[in-house]
Amino acid sequence: MTHAGIYIHIPFCRSRCSYCDFATGMYESAIAGRYVGALCSEIKAWGEVDKPSVVDTIYFGGGTPSLLAASQIESIASAVRGRFEVTEGAEVTLEINPGDGGTSEASKRPSMNQWRSFGINRASFGAQTFDDRDLKQLGRTHSAADISSTFQRLRDAGFSNINFDLIAGLPGQTLDGWKRNLEEALKLRPEHLSLYLLDVHEGTPLADQIKSGMRPKPDDDLAAEMYVTMIEEVCAAGYEHYEISNFCLPGFESRHNTKYWSGAPYYGFGCSAHSYDGARRRWANERDAAKYVEMIDQNSSSIVERTSLSDQDARSESIFLGLRLMRGIDLQKYESRFGRHLREEYNGELDRLSEAGLIEIDEGLLRLTTRGALLSNEVFAALA
Ligand code: SF4
Repeated sequence: MTHAGIYIHIPFCRSRCSYCDFATGMYESAIAGRYVGALCSEIKAWGEVDKPSVVDTIYFGGGTPSLLAASQIESIASAVRGRFEVTEGAEVTLEINPGDGGTSEASKRPSMNQWRSFGINRASFGAQTFDDRDLKQLGRTHSAADISSTFQRLRDAGFSNINFDLIAGLPGQTLDGWKRNLEEALKLRPEHLSLYLLDVHEGTPLADQIKSGMRPKPDDDLAAEMYVTMIEEVCAAGYEHYEISNFCLPGFESRHNTKYWSGAPYYGFGCSAHSYDGARRRWANERDAAKYVEMIDQNSSSIVERTSLSDQDARSESIFLGLRLMRGIDLQKYESRFGRHLREEYNGELDRLSEAGLIEIDEGLLRLTTRGALLSNEVFAALA
């Protein structure tokens, strides 16, 4: 049976980044204490699946989970291990902010060695850019120097699996500026890189700044050039491009995130967390942190949405999630799972997309080309 992943959402940050539309708010220790209590109750009382799959990944995401105190991370980790069967050698990721994980007594926050002692063996951090001016404009609280020093401290603490997030296409960023970012990241040689094109979300301060003319509009052609450059340079440095926005050294794919794209089950805890049973059921928790705590206090559950996938939904999902993986969709497996030939089902569309250079079918695998990865939304819409 396919193993499941556990996602834990920690909705607190030090400050709000100008481009962010995640379910997260400012850190306050009293609120964080109540939230962690609710989270542990939710995990302990969980019973959504009669026989939950064995778990081989745990992901602390947010928000900024590294803001939590040592005892809080430890209590969440032990609640998970108390409720689920977690495999030996499970991948346990903590999202951190550059600069966190120091040993300052005043901060009462855990050191990197403590994270390791709670079983955390993978660190992921939002470097975003190595340009201090851009970091400031984005409202980030760290500097470029913090990225390198945090990386070194993680290495010193024994982390041998580290991810950076970088964003391309920032307002005013040039192609040379983006290349310098890639060079800086590759010099450190993390095991994994998540490289995103900036997505400007309605209602964020950044969207307002662009609307008012305070920041230049993102340039789609330049973003496309940045995307192609990133694939060339990162792959030339020995990384594998395994998902539209993700690269890794051999053997270091994010096992947790791969579950989302490959149809494996995952169970999410905390506000705004989503879950999937690996077959036909999806469900989602309340998005607002305060309401989430209230609901858990009253009912031990905060599920506000349940979806039962139809045959058509399940097929569409397996296509647009499976195509995110650059290895593509195995047409034989699709047929065994759904009793249909994907080629026959979407014949006209596949021909059109293939002629446009967006997809290719090779040795029984349907996959995106580099151009298709760049224009993936167009491909997904055509196959919806
Ligand atoms: S640190 Fe991440 S989650 Fe927090 S505000 Fe910034 S982008 Fe959003």
